[in-house]
Amino acid sequence: MSEVPKAYEPGKIEERWYDCWLEQGYFTPRVDPDRKPFVIVMPLPNVTGDLHLGHALFVTLQDMMTRWHRMLGEPTLWLPGTDHAGIATQVVVERQLAREGKTKEQIGRQEFAKLILKWANKNRHDIRHQQQLLGASCDWTREKFTLDEGPSRAVRTAFVRLYDKGLIYRGERMVNWCPRCQTAISDLEVEHRDISGHLYYMRYPLTESRGSVTVATTRPETFFGDTAVAVNPADERYKELICKHVTLPIIDREIPIIADDAVDTSFGTGALKITPAHDPTDLEVAKRHNLPLVDIMNADATMNRNAGPYQGLERFACRDRVLADLEDKGLLEKIEPYSHSVGHCCRCQTMIEPKVSLQWFVQTQPLAEAAIEAIKDGRITIIPERFAKIYFDWMENIRDWCISRQLWWGHRIPVWYCQGCIGVTVSVGEPSACMHCGSRQIVQDPDVLDTWFSSALWPHSTLGWPDDTDDLRYFYPGSVMETGYDILFFWVARMIMMGLEDTGEVPFRTVYLHGLIRDSGGEKMSRSKLQANAMSPSEPIREYGVDALRFALTVGSTAGNDMSLGQDKLESGRNFVNKVWNATRFILRSLDAEQLKPQTTEHQPQRIEDQWIDSQLNRLIKNVSTLMEQFQFGEAEQQIYDFVWSKFCDWYIEIAKIRIRSRLTPSPLPFLANTLEKSLRLLHPFMPFVTEELWQSLKQRLPDKDQMPASVMIAPYPCADDEAFAPEAERVMDSVIEIVRSIRNIRAQYKVKPDKWVETRVYTGTLLSGIITQANIIETLAKVRPLTILGRQEREPTEDKALVLVLKESEVVVPLAGMVDQRAEEQRLVRESEAVKGRIAQLESRLRNNAFLSRAPSHVIDREKQKLATLEDKLKRLYRELSQLSSPPADN
Ligand SMILES: [Zn+2]
Ligand SMILES: [Zn+2]
Repeated sequence: MSEVPKAYEPGKIEERWYDCWLEQGYFTPRVDPDRKPFVIVMPLPNVTGDLHLGHALFVTLQDMMTRWHRMLGEPTLWLPGTDHAGIATQVVVERQLAREGKTKEQIGRQEFAKLILKWANKNRHDIRHQQQLLGASCDWTREKFTLDEGPSRAVRTAFVRLYDKGLIYRGERMVNWCPRCQTAISDLEVEHRDISGHLYYMRYPLTESRGSVTVATTRPETFFGDTAVAVNPADERYKELICKHVTLPIIDREIPIIADDAVDTSFGTGALKITPAHDPTDLEVAKRHNLPLVDIMNADATMNRNAGPYQGLERFACRDRVLADLEDKGLLEKIEPYSHSVGHCCRCQTMIEPKVSLQWFVQTQPLAEAAIEAIKDGRITIIPERFAKIYFDWMENIRDWCISRQLWWGHRIPVWYCQGCIGVTVSVGEPSACMHCGSRQIVQDPDVLDTWFSSALWPHSTLGWPDDTDDLRYFYPGSVMETGYDILFFWVARMIMMGLEDTGEVPFRTVYLHGLIRDSGGEKMSRSKLQANAMSPSEPIREYGVDALRFALTVGSTAGNDMSLGQDKLESGRNFVNKVWNATRFILRSLDAEQLKPQTTEHQPQRIEDQWIDSQLNRLIKNVSTLMEQFQFGEAEQQIYDFVWSKFCDWYIEIAKIRIRSRLTPSPLPFLANTLEKSLRLLHPFMPFVTEELWQSLKQRLPDKDQMPASVMIAPYPCADDEAFAPEAERVMDSVIEIVRSIRNIRAQYKVKPDKWVETRVYTGTLLSGIITQANIIETLAKVRPLTILGRQEREPTEDKALVLVLKESEVVVPLAGMVDQRAEEQRLVRESEAVKGRIAQLESRLRNNAFLSRAPSHVIDREKQKLATLEDKLKRLYRELSQLSSPPADN
């Protein structure tokens, strides 16, 4: 029989068990056509680097759900994968190149792609390793990467289908342009920051007459792109000027003065410069008035030839020159301080340039309508529910999705332009000729697709779509999409849209959104932002072990709520693991000393404490099942923790020790073994490693070991046995525990030496016979002797001076006999009765309050009345104790 080592050393057991599970193929589901599978497709982490604690949280939550469902006997698939993370990856590798003094243009597109791929492959390996460290029970045989052949073909197929339906188009639209990354980026990749800048008042000379119009702007350098000045038609100041012209200074270009209702007369001077190619609002005005667009910048935000003499200048250098030149000409009226919000690229922090450019778009509205319906009609449930509203708001206001990116890393857009007939060929495979004129002179679009285009297909592309595969038929739609609420729109919304579009079915049934782990400063942990706050899971794993980390990340947590992770949580995780470890060692030693007989775990409980632990265990199992079904994993874990720590370890095992020492029959061993075995199974989804280690050691010592599964991870999750509920035994044991606790408190309060026996009398009502059976336990655990347990009616009014503790169902009398300061005791009773009186007064006033009485449900009112009655009874008993203290009250 193998010994369980004295000290728990997580590192040693973790790797061993992970390898064993992997070898046995437990992570790969067995397809059973008669059972509905449980499926989570892992929301793919970016290939950009190490996992941080936020990733450890999602791995833990998904592994927990996966292990739980596997133990419920469902064919369970957790499909892992990684995202090529287009722009994020490219920026990182570009930075590496820059450190070597090189640019991607110098080494060329092919070489650059090779370099990224090499880097990505190394990172994928590291990410997989970290997830395995955390215990992730994913089916690695089905692991996918967005750039794999399968998912890539899915991307091209989805593109072609949307294009053929008219839902993908190419057009000149306003996009968020990052001049450093030199690509369009999505609204979600733009971070808005408040900037304290200036408002510049510039004079535009009138063309037809003398004088000028003054416009106010935060960006004077964009005036080269102006194609009109707009005023409000109701603005008396400018009525005469409508339809006249101004001449732009320096470049001498004439532009009209137009009237538009949208102009805000209170901003600046009420006359607005219209720069449609570089401002989304101006673009709207331009569309209404058929104004031309003048693009004034190159891709890197230097000025182009439309900026005349300023061509080639960087946008901010140009601003300085423009201001100086206007000043010289007397055309700069004034400058005011002005704070406003400015968008920045979330990958490289460069200021975004709104820019009209030729891009590919998905017409999102029809897709969004279907995706809204799927939530409204309940095909998909969002947990927590409050995020459904946020989802609707976003989806109802969705704009067309710009899917082209001017990057070198990603899925190339499957569009070829013909040099002969200018037609476009859109194709899943590589075409050899133009589909319109047959010319072989065709060139593929240089751009790649937005990363989220491939992520949106992830739930079906990973299962083999567009092919009709066994996996797709059996595992699609998935069960749960588990992710942080911050990427509800990035991923979840798009997956729903594309899942419905491509397969006609929702991609998953439940969206579970976890909160974010924030650092002590309240910042979200992110690798791309600041390296410093994104603690890697490997540190806590080394120091505390994986199980303790998983515990700290999830215990008590609730969906959608942020959390912080501090040392205290990690320590309490480790303490818990140690507690379970030590309890198991005691039970195993006892089993080695006295072997269990077969079938004994099934026998009917005889002693009250055995009935009690069995009843409590089954209550726990029942609660945990309900909580897990309601996605309240943190609360389920908390309840298992409370049961194991307190009821099982602190009480039942301590009581069992007394029985084992004094060789009392029946032996508590069957109950020790059964409770431990079921607790380990309950805990397994949360703490996989330590539970497997201990469960294996326990199993070797059980009589039915040959019928038991080979691993706890494939053992059935415990089911509650309603027949085990024993309310009477629970009342007795609650009382016994309360008695022991109160005596221990009093001993501590009066500093009674630990080895001193103290005489005690317990008076109680209906529980008398039950409590008498526990006399031996009370004696030993509270160190009281002689102990008398009597009915209340037997209490003599003239007792010696004694300490009296009034408990829920009994009174404990500890004769003072030199142990206690009597006066202090009296003061204590006075204090306690005052406190009880205060609470009675509160409750009474509450129950007189009409507003409360009319609003509160009747069961709440009844509960309050019940509380009041209990308190009134307690006060009566406190007064009686006071009156029995024979010395006169202190203040007389
Ligand atoms: Zn950028
Ligand atoms: Zn052609």
